Order: sequence, then structure tokens, then C-alpha cells
Amino acid sequence: MADVPDNAPEHCPGTLSEQAGKTSACQGCPNQRMCASGATKAPDPAIAEIAVKMETVKHKILVLSGKGGVGKSTFSAHLCHTLASDDTKEVALLDVDICGPSIPRIMGLEGEQVHQSGSGWSPVYVEDNLAVMSIGFLLSSPDDAVIWRGPKKNGMIKQFLRDVDWGELDYLVVDTPPGTSDEHLSIVQYLSSAKIDGAVIITTPQEVALQDVRKEIRFCQKVKLPIIGVVENMSGFVCPSCKNTSQIFPPTSGGAERMCEELNLPLLGKIPLDPRIGRSCDEGRSFLNYAPESPAAKAYYSIVQRIKDYCSNRKNEEQ
Ligand code: ADP
Repeated sequence: MADVPDNAPEHCPGTLSEQAGKTSACQGCPNQRMCASGATKAPDPAIAEIAVKMETVKHKILVLSGKGGVGKSTFSAHLCHTLASDDTKEVALLDVDICGPSIPRIMGLEGEQVHQSGSGWSPVYVEDNLAVMSIGFLLSSPDDAVIWRGPKKNGMIKQFLRDVDWGELDYLVVDTPPGTSDEHLSIVQYLSSAKIDGAVIITTPQEVALQDVRKEIRFCQKVKLPIIGVVENMSGFVCPSCKNTSQIFPPTSGGAERMCEELNLPLLGKIPLDPRIGRSCDEGRSFLNYAPESPAAKAYYSIVQRIKDYCSNRKNEEQ
């Protein structure tokens, strides 16, 4: 059978079968999760619709992390603020962290609602050139839990990509949930024809975080998602009084730097811990306006410049 992979178990139902990933023969197969997610079955017609919708979006960037709490959403938000500080660029942030949507708060948009227009759902605008869409806008209260099964989450991601009126965009940044879950497979699958520029992976310096990042990297390689690079967040703390640096999360195994060397990946930069980041995010303000001269803000600027360079080189290569 053409749809049975080489490493398939003996009674593999085939990757295109309705039973793919669900039969007893699938137990223990390395492809089970991928098959069960539906990613291997006949292509969903939405993929082609999303490709058409995304024709007006020049660059698509995914932000990933192995673990929760490492600063992924904070990074996504500040990536967008920095990209949108060039008012000739149109930027959008899509939050598909369906189980813990924190983007509305970080962007100062809590309580905002999405409007339906003739051309789809309208995102919420932070600035004229910075649009945001999040599951958080669809919940009646920020404390509402979203307990959804895989197919419902996939359906929501499909709607976000296909039915939101993004308009012409230079950058679409997608903030994903931590780890490698169904949401990641859906995003990669739905954007497969629309081409994702690549993923930025956020980690903290300690080995427990890096272990999960290695899994994330393997996931990217498996689904052929290019990796733009790795960002080490919460990387040291410079005491504002004595200026000494302390390693709050010690890089016991050499931190992201060593991991990137080993795996031959670019380390885009290191963002230090700065308590003002937490404060400004809780207030829904950009830290970059709050402390533009701080080492953390300078780290954000330099990392975002590297991401912009990557995207423009990629565009040139395509032409
Ligand atoms: P994730 O999206 O990975 O779950 P968040 O972006 O929600 O993580 O960040 C978790 C917490 O850490 C938030 O309170 C955020 O303000 C804070 N934070 C993120 N980066 C930094 C940093 N460099 N310095 C200090 N606090 C940070």
C-alpha cells in the first residue's frame, strides 16, 4: 500500500485511512500521534483556502517553546511591537495558545471583542498597523477555561487562519501553546501550502527547559518546519544597584548556547531577567516603551533585527 510508511507496524491501516492512528496496531507506532491528528489523511480543502487567504501575508513566523512560563507570549508580543514600530509595516499577532490565552492581557486588550464583518472576523487593533486575534476575545471572562478536544481546537485554528480578515500583512506572528500538541500539527498542516518562513524557539537557560526544547526541535525537523533560531530568555539578572550579574536559572549544561552549537542552530540572542517586563505585561504596556535603553530592550531589538534579516533573505532566495 502506498500510504503505509516503511516503519509501520504489521497491521497498519494506512495513513490515509479513517482508522489511521486509532487501531490497536497503531499502539506504540512512532507515527500514531501524527496519524490520529488527521494530518496524514486526504488534504482538508481548507488548506487550499488558507493558502489563498495567506497570499496577502508576506511573512509567517511561529513562536514555539518546549515548556510553559519561559516567556514565549511575552516574546511574541514584543516581536510584534518591534516589527510594528516601523509604521510602513503591517503586523498581526495570532494567539493559538487555546488553553491559556495571555496575549489579550499582555497587549492591553482584555475585555475586547471580535466583530464579524462581511469579510470575516475583524481582529482587534492595538495600533493602526498592529492587529491581534486570540481565543481570549471569544471567552466571556478571562477566567473561563477552554477545555476542548483536539477536533474543536483544530476547527478554531482553521477559522482563525481562514476566516479572520487580516488584510495585507508584512508579518503574521503565531503564538503557539507550549510543547508539541495537536495545535502545532494543525498550524503546520493548515499553513503547509501557504509556506511558513520559520519558527523561533524560546527557552530559559536551565537543562530542564532545554530538554523540552530538544523535543520541539525534533518536531520541527519531522514536519520540515525551518527554524529561524533559538532565544534564551530570563538569561541572567543584572542587579540595578551593584550591576553584578546573577544566574537565577543557571545554565548547568551550557544553556541555549551549547545546545545551539551541538545542533547547529542559530542562537538569536539572550534576554536577561528584568522585573519591569512582568510589570509592563501585567499593565498591558510594551516594555520597549517602558525601558527602551535597558539591556533587555536592546536584546529584543537585536533579536528582532536578526529575524527581519532572516525573512528578507528568505524572500530574496525565493525570487
Ligand atoms: P509563556 O508564554 O512561555 O507561558 P509568558 O510570556 O506568559 O510565558 O511569561 C511568563 C511570565 O514571565 C510573565 O509574567 C512574564 O511577564 C514574565 N517574563 C517573561 N520574560 C521575562 C524576562 N525576560 N524577565 C522577567 N520576566 C519575564
